Amino acid sequence: EIEVPESHPRYQSLLTRHRIEDGVKKGITSTQGLIAQGRGEAFDYLLGERTIPSADRAERVAAAHLLLAEQPVLSVNGNVAALVPEELVELAEVTDADLEVNLFNRTEERIHAIVDHLHEHGASEVKGTAADERIPGLDHERAKVDSDGIYAADVVLVPLEDGDRAEALAAMGKTELVIDLNPLSRSQQASTVPIIDNAIRAIPAITTHARVLQRASSTLEEMRTIIDEFDREAILADAERVIRNGSD
Ligand code: ATP
Ligand code: MG
Repeated sequence: EIEVPESHPRYQSLLTRHRIEDGVKKGITSTQGLIAQGRGEAFDYLLGERTIPSADRAERVAAAHLLLAEQPVLSVNGNVAALVPEELVELAEVTDADLEVNLFNRTEERIHAIVDHLHEHGASEVKGTAADERIPGLDHERAKVDSDGIYAADVVLVPLEDGDRAEALAAMGKTELVIDLNPLSRSQQASTVPIIDNAIRAIPAITTHARVLQRASSTLEEMRTIIDEFDREAILADAERVIRNGSD
């Protein structure tokens, strides 16, 4: 399906672009998603198209949050569904989280296309079709969530969330794990855990951390310590510093 020579210096970046294009063709990703992708690429370029060490620390903390959560939910939009469907299903399995399709530009067609796509990639249950609750403070269409999904969740992983909705979820008191390459975005400003990394790397990295934490049979107390010692301001500042200095 994708023909990019692996020897190309920007292989991963080109592969990502093709996946998003493919997502648009399949009705999974919105055309707005293409613009979001472009913005993401610019920040990824400035960060060196790699996971910076402070992002890796945030990914470990995100894993601890998901493992300790009562009701964790992974929010899925058209971009991540196109980029990392299998990896999302895997993370949901490892952390015992629910997957919920949650779109900024919500259409029933796209919701169903993404639900089907996730099923094709191994998901059992996918939430997001009930849409029987509302996030307070947002207009009708943007507010729709499942009552037994994001609405009830204590911890929500939100990749590439719109700033308004990220703020509204934070106002509901949720622990918000935000994947967004722009450390200055309103989404990241509203986050509990800012994960400043490409979703394509961040999702599998969180899964790996969750597996390691489980394998080490870390006690609840150890995971709580990992969470308590986390300094979100330092993470935001570090990403900004790397962008400005062009190095660690
Ligand atoms: P704000 O959060 O400031 O309100 P926004 O949400 O309106 O901004 P968008 O362009 O809608 O901004 O959101 C896209 C965001 O997602 C950008 O900040 C972009 O850097 C980020 N992004 C795009 N692709 C990826 C990706 N693959 N992984 C991580 N982040 C990404
Ligand atoms: Mg945003």
